[in-house]
Amino acid sequence: MSELLPPGLLLVLSAPSGAGKTTLARKLLEVTPNTHFSVSVTTRRPRGREQQGLDYDFVDTETFQRRIERGEFVEWAEVHGHFYGSPESSVARARATQGLTIFDIDVQGGQAIKRKHPDAVLVFVLPPSIEELERRLRERRTDSDETIRRRMLAARSEMERGVASYDYIIVNDDFERAFGELRSIVVAERCRRGRVNLERLFTERLPGQG
Ligand code: 5GP
Repeated sequence: MSELLPPGLLLVLSAPSGAGKTTLARKLLEVTPNTHFSVSVTTRRPRGREQQGLDYDFVDTETFQRRIERGEFVEWAEVHGHFYGSPESSVARARATQGLTIFDIDVQGGQAIKRKHPDAVLVFVLPPSIEELERRLRERRTDSDETIRRRMLAARSEMERGVASYDYIIVNDDFERAFGELRSIVVAERCRRGRVNLERLFTERLPGQG
């Protein structure tokens, strides 16, 4: 019989900012039982209505450095001049609860998680077009023109790397359809050989057996 994969489903969602991945992640969290969001640690400042401990664990650079030294991150990276890291505890919780854990992180983070945990599932969300991405970024009104310009440049290379290395690609031109695709990926991955524990089925005695 095939090898069992480790318990839990590590789902990495990446996209250029403005593609709508956070909304997709939040909805998946809402409708899927036993699902957790991996709250990343970051040295950047809170934006808009972001809350400490909910959207991010906002810390200073020394605290971040200390956590790296203590080996508290499954992966960490510098993005747009700030540090971001995914806590090891998010992986541990997925394993312990056998639930779904969503990592809303960038492509280098997703690739690092996949290297350590080959059973992780990487999903890349694409905006319908580059123009639409820029429009959505401007609509948020949280970033300066300079930040938007930098993010648009980063978006192009992020999309190229994501499309080349991720397991699944979703084009977010219609939210409901994109969300349906994301849910289908989760449903299919849960049926993957190695994730379904068949041990009981094959070890239980059949009726009439000795
Ligand atoms: P933002 O500052 O817009 O919230 O995020 C900037 C970028 O950092 C996004 O692409 C986001 O997915 C990524 N990011 C957020 N948390 C993490 C993390 O823990 N690790 C990595 N590698 N990237 C992250």
